[in-house]
Amino acid sequence: MATLPSMTSEIFSRRACAREVSGPSIRHPFEWGREAARAHPGRDLIDLSLGNPDLEPSPPVREALRALAAEETPGRHRYMDNAGFEDVRERVAQHVSRSAGVHVGADSVYLTCGAAGALQIVLGAVLDPGDEVIVFAPYFPEYIGFVERAGGSPVVVRPGAGFQIDLAAVEAALTEKTRGVILNNPNNPTGLRYPDSTTARLASMLAAHRERTGTLVHIVADEAYAGLAYEGAWNASALAAWDAVWLVRSCSKDASLAGERIGYLAWGPALSAPGTLPTLRSTARSLGFASAPALMQRLLPYTLAHPLDTSEYRRRCERFVSLLCAGGLDAELPDGGFFVFPRSPIADDRRFCRILAESGVLCVPGSTFGAPGYFRAALTHALPRIEAAAARITRCAQSGRDSRRLASA
Ligand code: PLP
Repeated sequence: MATLPSMTSEIFSRRACAREVSGPSIRHPFEWGREAARAHPGRDLIDLSLGNPDLEPSPPVREALRALAAEETPGRHRYMDNAGFEDVRERVAQHVSRSAGVHVGADSVYLTCGAAGALQIVLGAVLDPGDEVIVFAPYFPEYIGFVERAGGSPVVVRPGAGFQIDLAAVEAALTEKTRGVILNNPNNPTGLRYPDSTTARLASMLAAHRERTGTLVHIVADEAYAGLAYEGAWNASALAAWDAVWLVRSCSKDASLAGERIGYLAWGPALSAPGTLPTLRSTARSLGFASAPALMQRLLPYTLAHPLDTSEYRRRCERFVSLLCAGGLDAELPDGGFFVFPRSPIADDRRFCRILAESGVLCVPGSTFGAPGYFRAALTHALPRIEAAAARITRCAQSGRDSRRLASA
């Protein structure tokens, strides 16, 4: 038998290896954590690196799942229309029409394997090689790979003050090659929302661009955290702002079903051409996840009817931010969800996150999201551990400041 190659570069393509080595992965802190665990065996490590929701799905959703799993009607586990069960798409369409204020029919909904599935289907369906897609920093790092795998080139636009969208920078970034803009609202990693006025101005900029150049620029509205907005903080969906909006929603965070892979793509009447669904179906098939899991499709309407109670996330974020601020760090309360994005007390955010890992807390450097000088904490643990993490972070920040003072003395 021939000897198998032992080098990763012999096994995988150059493209895949380059992605693994140079790609700013959210999972790097996990490696730092393993190193820290080897160096300090037995020490408790608080992992705030992954946005993996720890709250359980709401009780009616869990009950519905038990009932659905117990159903014995034949044929429940077969393939279905790639876009999903018609009755579920109808329920989603009604929900979106009501909440976004745009009429959406069942034929304008595609059930997907989470937001990631929806993003890849729509990018795969609208991009040609060389098309540009504007991404706002700080951004969900997977966007870069999703755009590139669809043949496009990501164009990163730096944020304005307070991590808001710098519309002048967007105007400057628009070219005849621009085919899409990914608008993640509320934002991962900041947890902040962009106001309706920003979405409206972005939409009129894209309408003017179309008038001028004849190019249609799509907004891919990733609203994967919309259901976690704190009371009173949420704004309208981008769906109403512009004709060419693809709405991406997910049950991963909104319903605490991240491991079950269910979400959806929805669009308004202007994008509902006769070829829209067939094109999305064939794109999804070519990507390999033609349709979302049947059981989760059936569960989806229950998640819409019984939203998650987000008060626990809010309580954690408020406590964490107040402890960090009391310890001299610069952190802002998010508008929803469980992410906090404080300023790194030393300029090198990667170095600060390594120091944190050695002190028993895993966070993700802001540079992973295209925003160096910050770090992201995902508050997916109970309050006492969040408080313990805040104490360790403020201690590290204090010693960082002290060592800087000593160095400059
Ligand atoms: N979009 C954003 C902004 C995210 O943060 C995530 C997951 O963390 C996703 C999309 C993918 O979500 P899903 O698990 O629904 O595929």
